[in-house]
Amino acid sequence: MSVAIDTYQKLQEAFTARGVQLVAVSKTKPVEDIRALYELGHRDFGENYVQELVEKAAILPADIRWHFIGHLQSNKVKYIAPFVHLIHGVDSEKLLREIDKQARKQGRTIGVLLQVHIAAEETKFGLDASEVRAILDPGTLAGLKAVQVRGLMGMASFTEDREQVRSEFRSLRQLFDLGRARELPHMKFEILSMGMSGDYPIAIEEGSNLVRIGSLLFGSRK
Ligand SMILES: *Cc1c(COP(=O)(O)O)cnc(C)c1O
Repeated sequence: MSVAIDTYQKLQEAFTARGVQLVAVSKTKPVEDIRALYELGHRDFGENYVQELVEKAAILPADIRWHFIGHLQSNKVKYIAPFVHLIHGVDSEKLLREIDKQARKQGRTIGVLLQVHIAAEETKFGLDASEVRAILDPGTLAGLKAVQVRGLMGMASFTEDREQVRSEFRSLRQLFDLGRARELPHMKFEILSMGMSGDYPIAIEEGSNLVRIGSLLFGSRK
């Protein structure tokens, strides 16, 4: 087990002071590592793979708030719908509709974030600004009563160029502000999920209120 407890406590204190929520990204890490932070009172954990999440959730305490932060295929929504707290990576209306359908079956409302493509890299998933606007429309959302679109999520380019990272985060923040200005019935649109181990200070400067941090807490992944 190799959880950086000191780092966790320092980050948690700094984030709390700034109103930033920390999601501890535990993908590929053993349940003992999750328990170590749980014992300190941490409850928000992020996972990327459906099967791994389902297995971990089955053996860990039920009051953990599980954030699904990976790329989600529509046909797998049903496995996490009974318990997932927030799905960060919604990148199509089709996926949003499937989450709504599965949430209804479970008799729950599921919170989601729309994933926006902000990086220069081709490989990252996400919607563009016009697709976000199309979804954040009372007409689109009217039929989706079992999902709550709670905000936006994005990943910056993996680059040493800090100014590029900053400008990508800034573009997401601007889109977030536009979304917040809309009148969206039954939505609490208030979460801006941006920033990871390598770029969270810039993300927070640019207005992030939720950071997803893995390797700084749990060590690097294979
Ligand atoms: C893995 C992952 C993280 C955490 O990355 P670190 O660099 O280890 O902090 C955050 N967000 C997403 C979407 C991820 O896939």
